[in-house]
Amino acid sequence: MTAQIIDGKAFAATVREKVAGHVARLKEEHNITPGLAVVLVGEDPASQVYVRSKGKQTVEVGMNSYEHKLDVDTSEADLLALIDQLNNDKDVHGILVQLPLPGHLNEDLVINSIDPAKDVDGFHISNVGLLGTGQKSMVPCTPLGCLMMLRDHHGSLSGMDAVVIGRSNIVGKPMAQLLLGDSCTVTIAHSRTKDLPDVVRRADIVVAAVGRPEMVPGDWIKEGATVIDVGINRIERDGKNKLVGDVDYASCAEVAGAITPVPGGVGPMTIACLLANTVTACCRANALAEPEGLTA
Ligand code: NAD
Repeated sequence: MTAQIIDGKAFAATVREKVAGHVARLKEEHNITPGLAVVLVGEDPASQVYVRSKGKQTVEVGMNSYEHKLDVDTSEADLLALIDQLNNDKDVHGILVQLPLPGHLNEDLVINSIDPAKDVDGFHISNVGLLGTGQKSMVPCTPLGCLMMLRDHHGSLSGMDAVVIGRSNIVGKPMAQLLLGDSCTVTIAHSRTKDLPDVVRRADIVVAAVGRPEMVPGDWIKEGATVIDVGINRIERDGKNKLVGDVDYASCAEVAGAITPVPGGVGPMTIACLLANTVTACCRANALAEPEGLTA
């Protein structure tokens, strides 16, 4: 079998189009422009690239982008004061604090100071609890993107066996909650899992979120399974820098029914879902109908 490629780049473009359409309607019919505030503390090069990309895409779909760049030695009190100001700003519907924060800042404290209704990353403890109990929440962007691609490919996920490799708070755990919400039988595997190959071989859906280059070989994959590769790993091969995922694409694509490539799979969906979450937050804040197909 040669797997069908799930094209995240193309899918993300359709999500952005939907978001842009909804933003245009909000402006026309309600005179409201959704706004996303992104806070960056320090000058981590990767974070700077992400923040620039988020700002650019926010403007491209017609929303307002507010960037707050703070010095690396900004105090916790000053950062919390900025978040308080953004929480109370009615033009700001989404707030994202770019992680990781410099070591002297308490990430949990900072994230939990964001108004949960504006927490477009879905990391606030209230949103984690709402998601875990199947209630309406803001959903973390990367797992939301994976869910959208899986629903698009399969229609219903009900009754499928899903294995999520990785138990991080930002990908693995919320991914498992979302799959459970769609009635999959879910296993979360991690670094202490016994006989990982055997666990993965049972899965109709494999989501790999580990951060280890090409860790999952094709002989772990059940014939026809869907493989969602969240990993983004930079490696050097044949003297060139290359991006690879957590699964060995070549061997997995020979057995899987469908697979996301790296790059061009899950990656582009993450920012698209951030934009989707911002529009959703804006609609909720104004008691307006939420856009269809952009939430969990
Ligand atoms: P993390 O380091 O927080 O978590 C990794 C998880 O993998 C841990 O729960 C750990 O138990 C598990 N793990 C480690 N070694 C293992 C092993 N040998 N066998 C089984 N499990 C093992 O990472 P994260 O933040 O969840 O990110 C995972 C990957 O996804 C990284 O490559 C990251 O760059 C990527 N990522 C991509 C996006 C995107 O937009 N596409 C977003 C977030 C993260």
